[in-house]
Amino acid sequence: MNDTVSEILWDVIIVGAGAAGLSAALVLGRCRRNVLVFDDGQPRNRVSHAMHGFLSRDGLPPAQFRSIAREQLAPYSSVVFEDQRVVGATRVGAHFGIRAKDGREFRTRKLLLAAGVVDELPAQPGFRELYGRAVFHCPYCDGWEMRDRPLAVYGRGDHKGGGLALELTLWSRDLVLCTDGPSDLSDDFRQRLKQKSIPIREEKILQLKIESAVPYQGSFEIVFETGPPLQRAGLFFNTDRRQSTDLAARLGCDMYDLKGCKIDNDQQMTNVPGLYLAGDASRDVLQVVVAAAEGAEAAIGINTALLREDLK
Ligand SMILES: Cc1cc2nc3c(=O)[nH]c(=O)nc-3n(C[C@H](O)[C@H](O)[C@H](O)COP(=O)(O)OP(=O)(O)OC[C@H]3O[C@@H](n4cnc5c(N)ncnc54)[C@H](O)[C@@H]3O)c2cc1C
Repeated sequence: MNDTVSEILWDVIIVGAGAAGLSAALVLGRCRRNVLVFDDGQPRNRVSHAMHGFLSRDGLPPAQFRSIAREQLAPYSSVVFEDQRVVGATRVGAHFGIRAKDGREFRTRKLLLAAGVVDELPAQPGFRELYGRAVFHCPYCDGWEMRDRPLAVYGRGDHKGGGLALELTLWSRDLVLCTDGPSDLSDDFRQRLKQKSIPIREEKILQLKIESAVPYQGSFEIVFETGPPLQRAGLFFNTDRRQSTDLAARLGCDMYDLKGCKIDNDQQMTNVPGLYLAGDASRDVLQVVVAAAEGAEAAIGINTALLREDLK
């Protein structure tokens, strides 16, 4: 055995200490399981100032949510944190071998991937700077705060552009659909948008111009290649996302697409024996409260499987 391999056989290694991983760690710690949690500090909502829609935690800064969770995990001494990235995972007999960024290797009976996803933002200047403050992807997360404000919708085609614009009429009636090039909308959708008085701007977008960059003053301009700029308070977009890590695919997990992995049962188990998945990395719906619930489900599934093995 490589001399950098830890002597300990962990019951569970969790990759990711967002809501899903932390929730699983709590349940497993309470089951007195030896748990090693890896995290490289890039939770999906790190740019957001407030987390919404989590019963009893509505409006809490996401970083505070995570630090409360870590504080409450402190008494569970069998839960240990390694604040670094996992770069490799392999099957070793019935177990898994994990390689951390610093080169050390670890062995575990069960592996839970709770590593989340990465959003792909439009590339133009301004999107990244305003992400989480005025640029959002999820109306359920930030629609209420943007209610009745002048909003832009960024997306192309019936589903990603037209559908999102129609959905947002729940929150605001002052909407402009910006397609950043040909809209690819069907006649049906064009008609439906017209009925809701939603104009379409098909010019290429050059940038989102922030009037006074820091602090953000509550509005920005969308600058187009041609035509007048458009002043807006917020923008919702619909673009792609990908897995934060390819560990699941490399271990042979069935992916339903680049966004997520297939889960075989209601305990978050994948088609790879001993490999579990929870949170945004597993499937829709992508919300903190759902990620936490999936983490708890996975933990109970893992503990049950370990109990079965131990009591054989
Ligand atoms: C701008 C924005 C605003 C949002 N607002 C809301 C909201 O108001 N309400 C709401 O419910 N949801 C909101 N969301 C969605 C929410 O962020 C996710 O649903 C939630 O974070 C999912 O939790 P998770 O534990 O699955 O993943 P994450 O919170 O993304 O955590 C995954 C963790 O795994 C770590 N990781 C990844 N790969 C590795 C690796 N190889 N090794 C070690 N660590 C790794 C990452 O660093 C990260 O810390 C928002 C998202 C964004 C982007």
